[in-house]
Amino acid sequence: MEVRFWGTRGSLPTPGPRTVRFGGNTACVEVRTGAGHVFIFDCGTGARPLGDALTARAPIGASILFSHTHWDHIQGFPFFTPAFDPRNTIALYGPQGERPLHETLARQMELSYFPVALSQLPATLSFTDLGEGAHTIGRARIVAQYLNHPAVTLGYRLEADGAAVVYACDHEPFGGALWRSDTAAGRIESILHEGDRRHARFLADADLVIHDAQYTPEEYRARKNWGHSPFDYVVELAGAAGVKRLALTHHDPSHDDATVAEIERHARAVAERRRTPIEVFCAFEGGRVTLGARGGAPAAAPEVASAPAGAVTPGARILIVDDDPVMRRLTKGALQNDGYVLTEAANGREALELVRRAAPDLVILDFVMPELDGLDVLRVLRADPTTVSLPVLMLTSQADEDSTRAGFEVGATDYLTKPFSSPQLSARVRACLARAPKP
Ligand SMILES: [Zn+2]
Ligand SMILES: [Zn+2]
Repeated sequence: MEVRFWGTRGSLPTPGPRTVRFGGNTACVEVRTGAGHVFIFDCGTGARPLGDALTARAPIGASILFSHTHWDHIQGFPFFTPAFDPRNTIALYGPQGERPLHETLARQMELSYFPVALSQLPATLSFTDLGEGAHTIGRARIVAQYLNHPAVTLGYRLEADGAAVVYACDHEPFGGALWRSDTAAGRIESILHEGDRRHARFLADADLVIHDAQYTPEEYRARKNWGHSPFDYVVELAGAAGVKRLALTHHDPSHDDATVAEIERHARAVAERRRTPIEVFCAFEGGRVTLGARGGAPAAAPEVASAPAGAVTPGARILIVDDDPVMRRLTKGALQNDGYVLTEAANGREALELVRRAAPDLVILDFVMPELDGLDVLRVLRADPTTVSLPVLMLTSQADEDSTRAGFEVGATDYLTKPFSSPQLSARVRACLARAPKP
């Protein structure tokens, strides 16, 4: 397959003489398979030149895979010319965020913003809300997995022609530190946070990974919870995952060509220090990569639960356990628009009582509480066969390695550090519920 970068900028288009080398258009990547199917990862402003290039080839069949519906990933769609040609068939896929994909895309084309409504586009369009899991589209296997971003966001692993390409935008580290200090860094088993380990398995042995690396490590320290990665995390993680080629993308709008080139140099130094044979580069507009010439079976896909489309769990019962009423209120506020039934407990004993009585679908558990703390509650839940696999999201101000390890060792499903943002908690809860074993 052929991969071509049409938009490599994050957040905001940034044209001009300072960005000519790496490009100013927002996120858009084209993947053309040997069978001639066109896949498009995201429709930032790079979708406009891509659309112009595709127009000459009509009729076309294309599948657009939206990572999420933040503006820089959808704003090019109204200008995607193949949608204006009745001979074309375009299938659009993406995670359901605040509302279904179709509705979000229609809203950005309301008359206040754009002269043509989504429903007036002449091409044959279809819309599918995707969840985490494996899907078959146009003879390719697509594995979708939730990323860590303050919006419901999917990463995609596309396997075709004996090769695998992963697109992971936008995403930031789950844990404070990547490695456990008691094991040798550089292997998937040495990753501290279960979320980062799952992410590494998602990338495992891919021929090409296209990954958010918006920040330098210094910038990231001041921008935690903004949903983007520092390049060193990405290189280390991809190196541990045995990735062959790594394209860093979603370049920060404030980074000129010299800064992005500097990031590329430093990122390669990280790979060298770890002695991983990974080939690292910063994605640039017009850049092409050919994959799959080796033939044979594609790199082994990670094991994933095959989830049905949608993946929203309306009416799920969530128990919020925190001794601090302000935190309980904030947590409720973050989830109030997601259609859950929310209950609260102010301490561990009350929590265990409510779990027994009300059988919640998920527990959000504070780490530090008087008497029975979060770990004690979790131990009791894991010792009981009826709650052994009940999803438990630990919400904690303890970001240190020992606490994180303790949380996962006792059986936490996820571990989120305070302060968190509302969309971030909402997305993490969504992922926990989607992964929960179905009765
Ligand atoms: Zn973005
Ligand atoms: Zn985003």
